[in-house]
Amino acid sequence: MQKLKVLFAASEAFPFAKSGGLADVIGALPKAFSPDEVDVRVVIPKYGSIPKEFVDKMWLVDVFYVRIGYTDVYAGIMTYKKDHVTYYFVDNEYYFKRPGLYGYYDDGERFVYFSRVVLEMLPFIDFYPDVLHCHDWQTALVPFLLKEQYQHHYLNTKTVFTIHNMKFQGRYGFHDLQGVLNIDYLPPSLEYYGEINLMKGALCSADLVTTVSPSYAEELKDPYYGEGLDGVMRDITYKTVGILNGIDTSVYSPKTDPHIYKNYINSIEKKRMNKTRLQEDLGLPVDPQVPMLVMISRLDEQKGIDLITAVIHEILQLDLQFVVLGTGNSHYEYLLSDVAATYPNKMRSLIQFDEPLSHKLYAAADLFLMPSKFEPCGLSQMIALRYGAIPIVRETGGLRDTVQYFNASEKTGNGFTFATYNAHDLLFTIQKAVGMYHHDPDNWAALELNATKSDFHWRKSASEYLYFYKKITGNIKI
Ligand code: ADP
Repeated sequence: MQKLKVLFAASEAFPFAKSGGLADVIGALPKAFSPDEVDVRVVIPKYGSIPKEFVDKMWLVDVFYVRIGYTDVYAGIMTYKKDHVTYYFVDNEYYFKRPGLYGYYDDGERFVYFSRVVLEMLPFIDFYPDVLHCHDWQTALVPFLLKEQYQHHYLNTKTVFTIHNMKFQGRYGFHDLQGVLNIDYLPPSLEYYGEINLMKGALCSADLVTTVSPSYAEELKDPYYGEGLDGVMRDITYKTVGILNGIDTSVYSPKTDPHIYKNYINSIEKKRMNKTRLQEDLGLPVDPQVPMLVMISRLDEQKGIDLITAVIHEILQLDLQFVVLGTGNSHYEYLLSDVAATYPNKMRSLIQFDEPLSHKLYAAADLFLMPSKFEPCGLSQMIALRYGAIPIVRETGGLRDTVQYFNASEKTGNGFTFATYNAHDLLFTIQKAVGMYHHDPDNWAALELNATKSDFHWRKSASEYLYFYKKITGNIKI
């Protein structure tokens, strides 16, 4: 049987370049496919920040030029193979050798360039994919360009576009990108209220659109979540599907995690040692009995920080300790630090991005807080479950698909949830959770067991993607 050929195009991939969950997906999903079944390759920009250990091992495949505006612009294609996945890196120092990944005045132009290179590099790498799988606004132009300008070059290539976060769409004024796109009128599929919307172009042009959880796929049809593209999402229901992300279970494993104080599996005692060691390190009162509530998050409105701050003093009246690890909006950073200073025996606010520390916190946590306003998928709650930290989440997007309210009479469910974006609903849910921890050890043990048994392996997601790849390429009949 011939292998299916798949090319992932994205703006980041762990461990080469990461700014968020997208990198984790691009780093983990390709290697979850069986190499006997799928030849999966990945292309990302060659950023200046890619660690030297990888750059030193890359080699140059070829060099060519792409037309951007009136100029022919250099494109070097470097490659490197890791875990049976071939990675390509688009080398152009003018566009990509800068600190960080995004946030530049010319991000639109940088990713128009990248998208064009993705389409023009295929003969140079001698790889004509059956499926070109693009991710988020940075590569949203690829399905559009393939359909509008490159169709006759790549007759057998289908496109998949995955929405990781609808909030970022790549919106630009027509005149900002007109030149680099070489267009003299605004094509209807790119047009959004007289401007360019790259995400819309992908939604209209791709053969299949996916989102990172089934609930988010539904929610995006609603104006509350759709960020202005809910109408388009309703129109393309027929080609939209939600596939839940997984987590890298070899990285997030309390049994083998090198970052945590004490490795454990099914042992409340050993888990509690992680808590008491963390309490010591943070200068909190050392007490294995007090429940530790943890939040690890970007400090962004999306993550429901407003709900927490609205009832923070009530939360801190409960018999618990609260530790926050996060960076982001400086308003939240100051606010959380101020509150922590007011409750030195109960709360710590760690305003930093620290991967090893995050592992220590997952291992120490009894409860994990994630009351998001919207959540396309969310990885943190899945990681928390794996470490036996019981999530308290709002029922939205991927949180709704991964955390179910614990039903004490049937012993089902793996966490605590609430529906409405309301601070007192959150408070009430935390009170219930803390109450069960202190006063109902049997149910708490049942809940812990359910939590650690939750399965979010990437294999599951990969088999779903494969099913849809085969469907759009006509390899199977549905
Ligand atoms: P998002 O991608 O929207 O930020 P996710 O829950 O999908 O949220 O993924 C967040 C990831 O980033 C998780 O792996 C989480 O542990 C990690 N993370 C978030 N903030 C920090 C931080 N301050 N330090 C270390 N890791 C963090």
